[in-house]
Amino acid sequence: MTPDVVIIGAGPAGSVAAALLADAGFSVEVLERAHFPRFSIGESLLPQAMEWLAEAGLLRDVVEAGFQHKNGATFRCGEREESFDFRAKSADGWGTTYQVRRDRFDELLAKGAMRKGAKVLFGQTVTAMRPDPECPSLTVRDEDGNEREVKARFVLDASGFGRVLARLLDLETPTSFPDRMSVFTHVEDNMPAQVYDRNKILITVNPNDNQIWYWLIPLAEGLCSIGVVGTPDRIKTYGATREEQLTALIAESGLMAELLVNAKRVRDVGEIAGYAARVSSLTGPGYALLGNAGEFLDPVFSSGVTIALKSASLASSALIRQLNGEAVNWQSDFSEPLSRGVETFRAYVSGWYDGSLQKIIFSKPADARQVKAMITSVLAGYAWDEENPFVRDPHKYLKMVEELCG
Ligand code: FAD
Repeated sequence: MTPDVVIIGAGPAGSVAAALLADAGFSVEVLERAHFPRFSIGESLLPQAMEWLAEAGLLRDVVEAGFQHKNGATFRCGEREESFDFRAKSADGWGTTYQVRRDRFDELLAKGAMRKGAKVLFGQTVTAMRPDPECPSLTVRDEDGNEREVKARFVLDASGFGRVLARLLDLETPTSFPDRMSVFTHVEDNMPAQVYDRNKILITVNPNDNQIWYWLIPLAEGLCSIGVVGTPDRIKTYGATREEQLTALIAESGLMAELLVNAKRVRDVGEIAGYAARVSSLTGPGYALLGNAGEFLDPVFSSGVTIALKSASLASSALIRQLNGEAVNWQSDFSEPLSRGVETFRAYVSGWYDGSLQKIIFSKPADARQVKAMITSVLAGYAWDEENPFVRDPHKYLKMVEELCG
């Protein structure tokens, strides 16, 4: 039987969309290339994401999973440090969230979608797509090499960095960000209690080069996700292998190196490069692109999963109306509202790398409490909150604060 919706990929965007659509009574098939649990990078959630997990009926699964609690972010450069407590944000809504092992998080979202009636098939790779406004179809290959055609009334591409439709339909378009890469791993951190607040992600700027930065994300059970980001030409000067690069770079990080002095690596050092990506259009005849399958900016403000869930929420609501026979304008009902928040994050990411946001952060915006609350709001993921001037016109307001910082 032809399902109403086929979704490519069971990452956060795919599973949340599947849960929402199945809940609304539609038949949903999710085609996932991997087998779960599988490793994925991107462990630090933002509080705004909790709203969309709740909307999809998946919040309880996340709350009960025992993930590390998260209430903010600490930024550090040499001896300079500033912390942001998300509960002190200007927007209404969740002020706390979690730092999650993505193998467990993604698996529990996929299971939640199945519980709601979605069919999730693993080991299924989508290799071709024929767009059609009424009945788009996909070619799917299983692990024995058998190919079959799957038709649906609509296709959602949530294939993340797989970027299936962007590649197959020639939708890729240049991003405004230069090529950057990241090397990362998980460690048993062995940080003594009280030396660092595990409820906060630590973002450290390399004291000698503000284009290089590190994350330290405490996870449950004494683990930490650690990684470093920079341009490939800079990272590669630190060693011939990823292990050498990560070790040499962390040695320069200051506090983070001290915190990790007794750390033991528990997985191989991974690498991901050239991840910033964009498409010419997020929708077409019979399809829409969610999460990273559409666009990815940069890891610095942990916005990836939040944007992925927002895209799943917007697309599912438009699609439910369309499948119920209502007219939907995908541009004004999906692409434009999604891009409002993406543009907010884009301004913050640009400000981070041009140095203006680093200047604001380390100049302690706490001195102007209301300003800090509004910036905190965006850092907590409330990038669609038009009441916040730092969302309505981020460039103008960040510039203003930067000038005040001297
Ligand atoms: P994904 O999570 O990538 O899921 C896509 C799924 O599609 C995968 O399971 C994949 O196997 C499947 N797939 C791919 N191709 C095919 C195919 N052909 N057929 C079938 N299935 C397919 N975000 C945060 O929120 N917090 C962070 O701290 C954070 N840190 C990051 C650090 C780095 C270095 C990077 C690069 C990214 C980081 N991100 C972070 C981003 C985050 O990982 C992504 O934004 C998020 O996973 C996107 O979710 P998604 O559902 O769109 O895609």
